[in-house]
Amino acid sequence: MKQTSEKELLELAIKNLQYSLTSRTVPQDLPNELTQLEGYVELQETLLDIRRAIMAIATGNLSYKITTKGYLAGAIKTLQASLSHLTWQTKMMASGDFSQRVDFMGEFSEAFNSMAKQLEESTKKLERMARIDSLTGLNNRRYFMELLTIELDRAQRYNRNFSLIVLDLDDFKLVNDNQGHAAGDEVLRSIKQIFANSGLRNYDFYGRIGGEEFSLVLPETVGREAILVAERIRQEFENTNISYEGRHLYVTASIGIGEYRTGDTAESLIKRADEAMYKAKASGRNKVFRTP
Ligand code: GH3
Ligand code: MG
Ligand code: MG
Repeated sequence: MKQTSEKELLELAIKNLQYSLTSRTVPQDLPNELTQLEGYVELQETLLDIRRAIMAIATGNLSYKITTKGYLAGAIKTLQASLSHLTWQTKMMASGDFSQRVDFMGEFSEAFNSMAKQLEESTKKLERMARIDSLTGLNNRRYFMELLTIELDRAQRYNRNFSLIVLDLDDFKLVNDNQGHAAGDEVLRSIKQIFANSGLRNYDFYGRIGGEEFSLVLPETVGREAILVAERIRQEFENTNISYEGRHLYVTASIGIGEYRTGDTAESLIKRADEAMYKAKASGRNKVFRTP
């Protein structure tokens, strides 16, 4: 048999490596002569391992286990790990966690992060919109009722007391009729500040439950103490001068207090506070009444 010359062997090796690098398929069997060439089999194996790893990534498979060591293999492993992490981050985003940020992929990172930030902000905005009444900036009825349900649950579980206030503006129709609807809106907008000035505690909560009707919950506050708080609110309304287009508007409020009783539902408690509020109306408005 003819002996292959060194030059021919090198040419064969180069051709084979080139094929491994550039062809669609990989060479099946190494020519016998090449297996004799020292280090060639390992070199070919390294090349094919890297090739398989890259092909796996290119087709979306991130689980190929690269066995080769070294700088290039390390870089591929880093890429696999980064893409796996990105997959996980995207899953977290899909489940509503928009706090994910990416920092390893240049321009893509910027685009991803700006998308995540936008989603985070618009979700917060939507959540806020779902809870807050847009005119007054107070909790809306739906969210107030949610908070009230939690408070009822707490009272039932831990045997706690609380009072619920229903507050209705007095003769508010007259404000609209005499000063205009926009002036009426301005009065409603000023109520947040009136509540803020009424010396409530930070665990008291409140909301707009109707057109010119509001409700407040005072945890751990019953009897005389609740009347004092309600009286402070009533006085704050009386003392507040609301200016609108150079005019001064004054409104008063009638306030009813209902005290939590075992077995109460949101409806039964609000109904009792409502009844007290109607008594306040009937006795001349701008008053505080309580049904124990
Ligand atoms: P009372 O003292 O008996 O409560 O008299 P009132 O005039 O306050 O009660 P009434 O229920 O007759 O009228 C409530 C008024 O509140 C009528 C309605 O147009 C007004 N109102 C409800 N929501 C809004 C609002 O968002 N903006 C304005 N400007 N007015 C509102
Ligand atoms: Mg009303
Ligand atoms: Mg009213």
